[in-house]
Amino acid sequence: MTDDLCKAGIMIEELSKKTSEQAGSGEQIRDGAPIMEHVVAANLPTKYGKFRIHGYVNRLNGEHHVALTMGDVGDGRPVLVRVHSECLTGDVFGSAKCDCGDQFDAAMRMIAAEGRGIMVYLRQEGRGIGLINKLKAYALQDQGMDTVEANVALGFPPDMRDYTVGAEMLIDLGAKRLRLMTNNPEKISGLEKYGIEIVERVPIETKHKSASDAYMKTKKVKMGHILKTY
Ligand SMILES: [Zn+2]
Repeated sequence: MTDDLCKAGIMIEELSKKTSEQAGSGEQIRDGAPIMEHVVAANLPTKYGKFRIHGYVNRLNGEHHVALTMGDVGDGRPVLVRVHSECLTGDVFGSAKCDCGDQFDAAMRMIAAEGRGIMVYLRQEGRGIGLINKLKAYALQDQGMDTVEANVALGFPPDMRDYTVGAEMLIDLGAKRLRLMTNNPEKISGLEKYGIEIVERVPIETKHKSASDAYMKTKKVKMGHILKTY
């Protein structure tokens, strides 16, 4: 997921710090009391193959997040992982404004091809600003702003995503050494802070779409994403 405000990554350090202070999450982790509670696991057959779906609840704010796993992901071997932030417009509606849906699809196929891996699906729409604010930013983009300018115009930093939740879910699943599928270097440092080792960055290059061209260029130039095509 990577919408026009879908997600990416400037100022993550700063923000994670702020979020931790606000929510006490940093303290909670240091105290050994995780925020995320693993409340349920069930089989989930999909068009990509057979997964297990794990439901987590954030004990601080009640938010729900899920992880899909295939194979034995807790055996200590490096595991293929995608940490994907929800993008309703891209994941479900097939929006051409971003590459989120394509990245989700590519990651699910890569996990299925290996027969082992984890898709962490974080319900932090619009790089954490929420669905309605994301749509407001789209409206500003209709008037010529880029994704970063639109977020700032709405009073948000370019990226409000917090990787505490994802990191805790991965640790709970026994995955501490990752082959992380991402083009976003901030995501790597975001996870490494929690003692997770990224042994390899696995790039996800999706097909070029003219409608998302400007957005992808913004991600590359303003948000430090590693993209060969743009
Ligand atoms: Zn998106």
